[in-house]
Amino acid sequence: MTSLLAQSQQADVKLYIDGRFVEAQDGEYFENRSPFTNEVINRIAKGGQVDIDRAAAAAKLAFKHGPWGKLKVSERMVYIERIADLIDKEVEEIAILEALDTGLPISQTRKMVSRAAENFRFYSRMVQTRMHGEAYMQDDEFLNYTVYKPLGAVGLITPWNAPFMLTTWKVAPALATGNTVILKPAELSPLSANKLAEVIHKAGLPNGVFNVVHGFGETAGAALVENTDVEAISFTGETVTGSTIIKNAADSLKKTSMELGGKSPLIVFDDADLDRALDAAVWGIFSFNGERCTANSRLFLHKNIKDDFISALKERVANIKVGNPMNPSTQLGPLIDQGHYQKVTGYIKMAKQAGCEIIQGTIPDELKAGNFVPPTLLLNATNDMKISQEEIFGPVMAVIEFETEAEVIEMANDVKYGLAGYVWTNDMKRGHRVAQAVDAGMLWINAQNVRDLRIPFGGSKASGIGREGGHYAILEFYTEPKVIHVALGEHLIPQFGKKK
Ligand code: NAD
Repeated sequence: MTSLLAQSQQADVKLYIDGRFVEAQDGEYFENRSPFTNEVINRIAKGGQVDIDRAAAAAKLAFKHGPWGKLKVSERMVYIERIADLIDKEVEEIAILEALDTGLPISQTRKMVSRAAENFRFYSRMVQTRMHGEAYMQDDEFLNYTVYKPLGAVGLITPWNAPFMLTTWKVAPALATGNTVILKPAELSPLSANKLAEVIHKAGLPNGVFNVVHGFGETAGAALVENTDVEAISFTGETVTGSTIIKNAADSLKKTSMELGGKSPLIVFDDADLDRALDAAVWGIFSFNGERCTANSRLFLHKNIKDDFISALKERVANIKVGNPMNPSTQLGPLIDQGHYQKVTGYIKMAKQAGCEIIQGTIPDELKAGNFVPPTLLLNATNDMKISQEEIFGPVMAVIEFETEAEVIEMANDVKYGLAGYVWTNDMKRGHRVAQAVDAGMLWINAQNVRDLRIPFGGSKASGIGREGGHYAILEFYTEPKVIHVALGEHLIPQFGKKK
């Protein structure tokens, strides 16, 4: 582990364009810092418009004239499954890079990297079984059939939280359906994207099929959105960025998919299995350092169980292992960077000023150089407070009391977001009723954030537009149906202009 860390700390990270690792055109780099120490890990090539244009041109050419889109599905899937196998071989190395770059605990990055390999296998199966057209017979005289065609060169813009897993969740369906890709990874977590480029390079994909351009959102990201060689943008990130991207993509009429922020409720009724609900509430906000779009950042507790539940929560918070992300027993690591640390701690101060009681775990002295925020509960919160309305995106949970089902549904929905929700009750009729009533793309009853890759993933309201996952990604985003009409007989065609 030490030698790998040492290597990654020295090497400059380049762009990957048209099958080659290259510097940015103007030779500029930016610094990549460790969330654990705030020291510079390495330098990252700073791509800009020219680099995006080069990558987009290569991707367009690879789509139009290269072999990728012309391969039989079964032939293309050989490459997709090879990528999965190569990721599996490098799980440990990628997991270490991801922990080093993001501050996520290594025990959690290992699982995410394995899941990333599964994303490729899953989409190999999905494309082979679901990317077929439909046939519509019309009056025995016409056959209309559809075929699903890839879009061309697609732009993928990704966030810094869980970067490897979230990136492969886009790259796998984009490539498996026959598109070519320009990836613009988040500037705060660039390392695993280059590992993906290395893996894809080793897997032997033709040049130009997959490209990575590092750089900042306002320059590299914006250039990708505006580039006219690019047919579509799949974005995951903050709601306000998503809105800017939609506006900028409108000029070139690009298709867009938006996976955005959340402020998800976890509702515990007084008849729930409280031990399991406690496990779920703690895991759902404090895993992945709380930097998780589906985090249950608002906990609604029924008044009859509130006091006991809070006592148990306090004990958990005091015992969560905050530490070095490289330590296998660490449960909570440092936040991604100083800017985010300031944002999260700013919300905690705001909660205090608004009258919340703040309950926090402790941070050992030796961790003071990192961006550590202890696990934090904001007690006596109300749903109208800013800390209950805005996405904090850290290990911070607002705890809100409720009395009736109608009241808690009203509060759960009184927020601009609608990504996820969690309901805990042993009354299944109520569980379904509440799950149906909460405005969100994904609801779990008596379960934490378990995922079946076949289901649609995404949010409503300000949490997104469109769905990733399952056949939704391949049939509704990365391909378009084309219809072909065939006459089986000699049907009457109006004979305009024909002499009688
Ligand atoms: P962000 O919006 O700041 O950045 C995301 C990406 O967009 C980065 O690559 C960035 O460089 C790029 N970008 C920024 N400005 C741009 C512009 N003008 N044009 C083009 N690209 C631009 O988000 P973040 O802080 O990296 O990620 C955290 C956010 O992502 C949170 O809000 C979280 O809830 C959300 N998220 C959502 C999901 C989901 O599936 N719904 C999953 C993970 C994260």
